[in-house]
Amino acid sequence: MTVHDTHTRVSNAIPFSRPFRTSGELRNLVAVLDSDHAHGDGDFTRAASLRLQSLTEANRALLTTSCTHAQEMSIRLLGIGPGDEVIVPSFTFPSAANAIALAGARAMFIDIDPETGNIDPQQVEEAVGPKTKAISVMHYGGVPVDIETIMSIGDEWGIPIIEDNAHGLAVRVGVGGGVLGSFGAVATQSFHDTKNVHCGEGGALLINDPGLVEQAEILREKGTNRSQFLRGEVDKYSWVGLGSSYLLSEFNAAVLDAQLEEFDAIQARRFAVWNRYSTELADWAGEHGVRLMDPPHGIHAAHLFYLVMPDWESQSLLISHLRRHGVTATFHYVPLDSSPAGKRFGRVLQPLTQSEDFSRRLVRLPLWAGMTDDEVSRVIAGVTSYTDQGGN
Ligand SMILES: *Cc1c(COP(=O)(O)O)cnc(C)c1O
Repeated sequence: MTVHDTHTRVSNAIPFSRPFRTSGELRNLVAVLDSDHAHGDGDFTRAASLRLQSLTEANRALLTTSCTHAQEMSIRLLGIGPGDEVIVPSFTFPSAANAIALAGARAMFIDIDPETGNIDPQQVEEAVGPKTKAISVMHYGGVPVDIETIMSIGDEWGIPIIEDNAHGLAVRVGVGGGVLGSFGAVATQSFHDTKNVHCGEGGALLINDPGLVEQAEILREKGTNRSQFLRGEVDKYSWVGLGSSYLLSEFNAAVLDAQLEEFDAIQARRFAVWNRYSTELADWAGEHGVRLMDPPHGIHAAHLFYLVMPDWESQSLLISHLRRHGVTATFHYVPLDSSPAGKRFGRVLQPLTQSEDFSRRLVRLPLWAGMTDDEVSRVIAGVTSYTDQGGN
């Protein structure tokens, strides 16, 4: 018996997330091994990039080693450096703020709209000023930020928008509306194995401003114009600017391409789980003063499902209760403005009370594409057996 079997037998707790596997990854990986082309920019990179461009309606999609690296590229591309400020939500993953700090600029942390967990445009309006060089937003759970207001603030001040779209691949903002990631000058995707579509570790930079494409290619290819050389546009390539090695390996691109091919099926399975939580937990939530994730117009990516508990204490009570029932639930981001690095590299105009409150009340439930009906039922039974007193 392997270690893995033992583990599965002893603890059959429902994990929080499990990477999805399609039927195509292995076939694609063998094709890469057989092709003798395992570095980036091979056939699978091309195929996956085209799929991404069509899913996201981005002008160009460049595969990168991670969403974090795509965020770093974004800040560099927009020429942001010391003395500059970038507006960023406090309730998000650290990558966006870290990229700002790495470039020597300062993060201006903004509070959220507790309805969605997304950046509050009102407070963006109050915070924007002459030092602001970009507005960085994140679509929490693939629920669109108020992009219209954010874009108009950007236009008014002549500054670009960066979308961290790690959660919201291919989400359309209403009928006839654009797709998340197609609004900002640049946007970033993550293919970390906790995301809807994954390749272990990986990401993409979506470029909507055509004027940034050439520089982005150089930045990604170690500061060289190798991308132009590969297209036959120059007869030699050389060091032409600053860059790093942000190119995704062809192995990862092969896995990513297989996953993107199954995108609709993956999303359908995730939505089925999400919809069961939304429907079957509604009565319990109403009785216990709990708010269920309820995206405006029902637009989201089925990336996550959360509950907002009535107070801070009940967050850990519910998580412990679920653990005793064999269900792994979890909180989410610690607000960046209160984190050790956030205090060093960022600032706030006022206490960000909504971010703190949301962070301390939110509980996320297990959600992955391969979840069985029985597993979903066990999660629902675990949640609904929780009472105000902390359950049994
Ligand atoms: C996962 C995630 C990231 C980081 O993605 P990596 O590909 O692991 O670098 C950044 N932002 C958000 C919102 C994420 O969820």
